[in-house]
Amino acid sequence: MLDSRSPAHPGQVLATFPEQQADEVAHVVAAARHAAIGWAAAPALVRSQALHAAADALQDAAVELTEVGIAEVGKPRAEMGAELARGVAILRYYAQAALDPDGDTLPSADGQSLLMSRRRPLGVAGCITPWNFPVAIPLWKAAPALAYGNAVVWKPAPAATAIARRLADLLAATLPEGVLSLITGDAAAGQALIATADAISFTGSAAVGRLAAVAAASRGIPVQAEMGGQNPAVILPDADLEHCAQAIAQAAMGYAGQKCTATSRVIVVGGAAAAAASAEALVAAVAKLPVGDPALPGTVVGPVISEAARQRVLAATAEASAGSGRILTDADPVDAEGFYVRPVLVAGVEPSARIAQEEIFGPFAVILAARDDDDALRIANGVPYGLAASVFTTDLDRVLRFAAQLDAGLVRVNGPTTGVDFYAPFGGFKGSSIGPREQGKAARDFYTVTQTTTFSAGRPG
Ligand code: NAD
Repeated sequence: MLDSRSPAHPGQVLATFPEQQADEVAHVVAAARHAAIGWAAAPALVRSQALHAAADALQDAAVELTEVGIAEVGKPRAEMGAELARGVAILRYYAQAALDPDGDTLPSADGQSLLMSRRRPLGVAGCITPWNFPVAIPLWKAAPALAYGNAVVWKPAPAATAIARRLADLLAATLPEGVLSLITGDAAAGQALIATADAISFTGSAAVGRLAAVAAASRGIPVQAEMGGQNPAVILPDADLEHCAQAIAQAAMGYAGQKCTATSRVIVVGGAAAAAASAEALVAAVAKLPVGDPALPGTVVGPVISEAARQRVLAATAEASAGSGRILTDADPVDAEGFYVRPVLVAGVEPSARIAQEEIFGPFAVILAARDDDDALRIANGVPYGLAASVFTTDLDRVLRFAAQLDAGLVRVNGPTTGVDFYAPFGGFKGSSIGPREQGKAARDFYTVTQTTTFSAGRPG
């Protein structure tokens, strides 16, 4: 059996659950495949109404699920509450999308026939999710899959199993039996799902995402994998330092830096003096972020998810000090029992340093000096990832250049790298993503396949 523990109170077990084995997973997928037939044949209005009912149920349970999320994944109260509201909005969006046109008509070759291309569901969508957005990510996968007529088998991350169970129960209650099922476990359960589902939508780390994509591709099933980032924020010389320092501090350290879109590198254009001024503003902004119990209303930086995650941040900090890096922030231990680590800002490391290349996934960011715009773009793009990037300036010519040349799926001008609009396409460049985009209208491309049909007259003349 596995368990899920509170990162703020590690003695508190929130869920105990089995690692489901291949035969059990195959059984769940077979039941889902059977249920998918009726669900795909149901009128779109029925699917729409079910998703609206799910949105109502989630809205009613939002306060309860907020508490479960705070306890289980350590997400600060304000962010967890906002995630529940987003979950409700995602369900309502796809409830409406279920009623969108489901195909096109085209001119036929003979001018008499009817040529039509129509979207059809794939069957059983296997959704494999991380722990850090335990409501929004499962819903931005499951809701479009369901809206377009698929059944869903969902495998959440072990560290978010308690909230997953509650969310799955709410959704399943509004759907015919077998249309949405939860399986529990870690790698083995995930692999078993990839071995049996009709499509895989994965979100998680780059290493696991690639394995998942290879395994799905070897079966010839559609796969999308959304993975990590090493996201840059570029500060140009004309930027309003106070504004950008606040935005970057939140994006780097909010939720203890555990967002795929968190800012990990701050690239300052303009030489040593500009870098020093930006560093000073960033240190001041980070120092203002309340660190501590995620259940308290003002907390911005809660615990990291596990002791292993805490050690990863401490190791990155030690690596910086052992090299050319200078730690700019206060490193006092947090006086609490959970997996806490204070936000760390580092200056003086090379862009090629491991800690400026790999995803640390904690409250940790490096400040890098760039000679000019070319150098800033080279540094920003010089990592294996390309998820999110931001640039701070009011110079329109530079805005246009950076927006066109930053290698990132999500570019923010004068805004934080974090934050995702669920009705816009989402995904990264390079090692951050494999396969088609998620969310918005893009979700339909993944969860359906087009069928082209020609209707001709049955009698000549
Ligand atoms: P993870 O890769 O450890 O796990 C993700 C999921 O994959 C979990 O459900 C896990 O149980 C499952 N899994 C593990 N091994 C597997 C295997 N061999 N086959 C199939 N499934 C397997 O990631 P995590 O620690 O849960 O989440 C953090 C990571 O997720 C970070 O890298 C973060 O950047 C990324 N993330 C990306 C996005 C995005 O949209 N790009 C969003 C959130 C998080």
